Amino acid sequence: MITIDDLTHIYPGSRKVPARTAISGLSLGVREGEFVILSGPNGSGKSTLFRILCGLALPSLGRVSIAGFDLFAQPAKVREIMGVVFQSPAVDKHLSVAENLAIHGDLYGLSGAEYRSRREEALSWTDLADRLDQQVSTLSGGLARQVELAKVLMTNPKVLLLDEPTTGLDPVSRRNFLDALHRLQKARGMTVLMTSHVFAEADDVDRVAIMREGKLLAYDSPKALKAMIGTEMVVLQAKDTEGLAARLRAEMGLAVRCIGDEVRLEETENGESLPLLEKILDRYRPEVLSISIKQPGLDDVFVHVTSRAVPDHALAIDLKRTGS
Ligand code: ADP
Ligand code: MG
Repeated sequence: MITIDDLTHIYPGSRKVPARTAISGLSLGVREGEFVILSGPNGSGKSTLFRILCGLALPSLGRVSIAGFDLFAQPAKVREIMGVVFQSPAVDKHLSVAENLAIHGDLYGLSGAEYRSRREEALSWTDLADRLDQQVSTLSGGLARQVELAKVLMTNPKVLLLDEPTTGLDPVSRRNFLDALHRLQKARGMTVLMTSHVFAEADDVDRVAIMREGKLLAYDSPKALKAMIGTEMVVLQAKDTEGLAARLRAEMGLAVRCIGDEVRLEETENGESLPLLEKILDRYRPEVLSISIKQPGLDDVFVHVTSRAVPDHALAIDLKRTGS
């Protein structure tokens, strides 16, 4: 449904600011009906990619097609089937929910019975049915986000793009919003691509793409990504993190990594971790503040992938394996 092919985006520099490559040879496919989360540390190019996908910026190089239409040659065709929820609110806070929906309906030439039925349907995915006359500025953050969603849904998009849609929401509103997206994906067969840096949100999506410095470092199902770093890991905290890590490397030959105030031993399998933990405690007990065995989550995968230099050829192989 979405095919991004060898995309590069360079922000031109000036006399004072050097040119900056925000996206570098990125290729990524999203299948019809798939729910994909795009993640990556700040500055990895997510927003730039998002702006390109929704037609707000032209890339320096590369192709994008959506539902078979060339995004740059046939932008109007793409706009017909795409809905976009921006990070900053695009609704008018001083107007009521109903007024916001009416303006959006107008913009898309919806009127009369068709407008009413589209509005009903869109509202059925939200908790806004009894809030129609309320001014948006008086709604909670979660409900205000739902107004954005209802607005976009009225145009029946086949593809929905969202930029950090849950930022600033409390955990319950966040869960409600995501549940609605998942139900929409299933019921309408909608293709969903959203950026997020909250990994709890990514556990039940189809695939997660991890970017860094404009490149795609990993792209796979949450399960496959977690399997990349083994089924278990040993995590410990020490009085001197770097010092203990150095000793574990030198004296025990272990491939450990320091992440924040933790020393981590990744890629251990079920059964290996406990004896390893005991060996470490035997030798280094006075230096260890805490030690535990942990099942890796997507946040651990993210740290693993983004804190390691990945050679370009590894990237090419990964893409072949996981591309659609
Ligand atoms: P993310 O959304 O993942 O944080 P961005 O796409 O915003 O990443 O930024 C990617 C890179 O491009 C960063 O290095 C950022 O500084 C740079 N960048 C973003 N917007 C501009 C701009 N308008 N002009 C110059 N550089 C930019
Ligand atoms: Mg951004």
